[in-house]
Parts: sequence; structure tokens; C-alpha cells
Amino acid sequence: MRFATFIHQGLRQVGQVAPDGRTVTAFDLAPQDAGRGMLSVIEQLAKGRKLPALTGAALPLESVKLQAPIPLPRRNIWCVGRNYHAHAKELSASVFKNNSADPAAWPIVFTKVPECVVGPTDPVAMPGPAASSQIDYEAELTIVIGKGGRNIPREKAMEHVFGYTIVNDVTARDVQMRHQQWDLGKSFDTFCPMGPWIVTADELDGSNTRVRCWVNGDLRQDALTTDLIFDLPNLIETCSRGITLYPGDLIATGTPSGVGMGMTPPTWLKSGDSVRIAIDGLGEIENRFVDLHQQQSR
Ligand code: MG
Repeated sequence: MRFATFIHQGLRQVGQVAPDGRTVTAFDLAPQDAGRGMLSVIEQLAKGRKLPALTGAALPLESVKLQAPIPLPRRNIWCVGRNYHAHAKELSASVFKNNSADPAAWPIVFTKVPECVVGPTDPVAMPGPAASSQIDYEAELTIVIGKGGRNIPREKAMEHVFGYTIVNDVTARDVQMRHQQWDLGKSFDTFCPMGPWIVTADELDGSNTRVRCWVNGDLRQDALTTDLIFDLPNLIETCSRGITLYPGDLIATGTPSGVGMGMTPPTWLKSGDSVRIAIDGLGEIENRFVDLHQQQSR
């Protein structure tokens, strides 16, 4: 099944997308639950409750505005760095230069703040040269946790996956590079486009799907998740080691090769650029990068 969070007639709703992908039907939810998007439904399911009843007409997707399925995660989004073999190679002289650890030993994990999430077609705000002049994209398959848990062994990890969504782990490379921790360069406002919905784990094999990313129509990233250095069970085991994972937690699984920083010379996003990410079996998101800093500064 596919579950979307959307705005219809000015109200946030949560619903089920039809198998043909043309319509969405809202769940019967109290406004305060609908306001939290799919997070409230995932939490209810994790408590053993059934899916809420559907209500009202099937709405054509064109008549609603899709939002991030979890518009404001309950806490930071877990993210994995250097998790495709080819991407580890392309940034071995830059981002990963000082990280001499065996890439096969432990994953790099950092986080993005919840407030940087935006929807699947929302603009991404270029922050202006005073904040960063090296804005880059990262297409990522993202795990949505269903059943929570702590110290989850990899053998049982997939039982904790509710489904998957797409994230663009937008990055200010200059900021990422100058700090020991990456969170600042990864958490600028609007730097986490997410969507277009959540596909449940019974409908998508996240361990074997294709991730692609285009900038203004040029294919930049194209990889299979079979190329992951650390597989999905490993990531869940790692993130839950001593830390309780909660329903609705998100783990962005890393990006393939083909980011702007890996190009010769490095090529950064410019105002007006459009970044489209597609994952087979999931759908696509497309966000325009817009120079909003002048209007927003005050
Ligand atoms: Mg990333």
C-alpha cells in the first residue's frame, strides 16, 4: 500500500493512494492526528490498532497538494554517509579524506533536524553565499520504522520496517567539510525534500531497487541498492544499538555516486535548477532550488 499526507481544501489529511496511482482517499482522522501526517497512523498501527477507516471520495492526485508523508518527524532523521561503494570512491579525496577507518567496519551516521523537511514538489531555499556557496544533492532510499525497539538484531531488523520513502539529503558541502560533525551542513531550512508517499515494505524490496537522480533532466545518479556497503538490516541494528527506535523514525540509507562534488570540476546547484529523484517501486520527487535568501533575510 501507499500512504500519503496531503493538503485538500486547505486542510492536512492522510490517505491511501489507489493501486493505479491516480487517486487518494482520506482516512477518518481527528484534525490533530491528521496534522501529524502519517506519523500518527504509524504510531497507531504500532500499538496494534487497525488502519483508520477511509472516508469521503477518492480524490484525483492532481486536486491535492502532496506533502512529506511525515511533515515533521518526531526527532532528527538518521542518515548514513558513504554507503555505496562507488560513492565512497568518488569522495575519497574530499569528504572522506580524513576518515581512514575501514569503510566496511562501521557506518558513518549523522542526523538532519526535523524542521528541514519539505514536500516532494516544494522549493528548496538556496541560503545565499554568506551561508554556503556549495549546495549539492543526494538521492536516498529512506527506511520508515514501524515497530520500535532497542538493540534490534539484524536477523529481526526487517520486521521493524513499515515502509520506504525518498529523501533528497541536500547538503551544503563547504559547511559539511569545515565541521567535524556534518549536522550543520545537512540541516539548513528546506534541505530535506521527502515523498511522494510511503510504500509499505510488503510492496517494495528496498534491498534491491534502483535509485536515480536528474539535475535539469541530466541523469547524475543511477545505482541499485544492492551496491550498499551496509545493508538495511545492518543500518537498523546500528541505529538501535543502545538507542530506542520509535515508530515513524527515518533512516536515510546513503547516496550513490554522481553527486555534484564528485564531478570534475565540482559542480554546485544554482538557483533555478530542478532535482528529480526516482526510486523504482516507490515514485519520484522533484524540487526546484530557488534563491530565496534575499527575500527571507531580515
Ligand atoms: Mg546522504
